[in-house]
Amino acid sequence: MQKHFFFDLDNTLTPSKSLILPEHAPILKKLSGRADVIVVSGHGEKDIRKHLTPVLEGAFHILGQNGNFAETKDGRVLWNRSLAQAQKDAILAFVAKARKHLGYTVRDENDIVEDRDSQIAFSLIGHHEDKAVKDAFDPDFKKRIQLLNNLSADVETLKGANVEVRIGGTTNLDFFELGKNKGFNVNLFIEKMGWEKPDCIYVGDALFEGGNDETVVGVIPTKPVADYRETYSYLSKVLLDS
Ligand SMILES: [Mg+2]
Repeated sequence: MQKHFFFDLDNTLTPSKSLILPEHAPILKKLSGRADVIVVSGHGEKDIRKHLTPVLEGAFHILGQNGNFAETKDGRVLWNRSLAQAQKDAILAFVAKARKHLGYTVRDENDIVEDRDSQIAFSLIGHHEDKAVKDAFDPDFKKRIQLLNNLSADVETLKGANVEVRIGGTTNLDFFELGKNKGFNVNLFIEKMGWEKPDCIYVGDALFEGGNDETVVGVIPTKPVADYRETYSYLSKVLLDS
């Protein structure tokens, strides 16, 4: 069994932007007694804690905002990388262009952009839109892959402003400092903790090209899952075999 389990959050440990299911929490808790659990998410640390519920408090290390905020399970903040105003401006210009290109009418104009300080999350239809609507919006990521392809010149402009964009969650694009993606931050965390890479594994639902888990490929071994249900059937098997 691996010693260090890294997990994406949305749709890997929990239904997207929702609490962990009550029947899944004991499985993750049990794992945390036998191995390190590290949660690597586009969400900030507050949302990560909230979604994993008090039952799991203190059981996991946090790499929030695609790893641009790092906190150990005993509460040590290892780093927190804020975006500069010029980077935020470039991101908002991209979002405005993308929204014009898409032409969607959304329910709440104020629910599109979330500034999480070291990351900005852009939901194409609204962060707090109904869960069923969000789940049905882009389950195969094709809409967002197409959007990034259509706006490839603007993606390059973002890079010029030192910003990287990745597909995350069910309806999001995540923006953060260029190169400071999940792969970079997982690698740095392993170094700081003095762990060995072959002892690690990363479980995620967006390990495909363009996904926000893809950058971990090649850093440590990875386990792609279709959704959180598959994660827990995998973990149940791991715990049974160990
Ligand atoms: Mg995910």
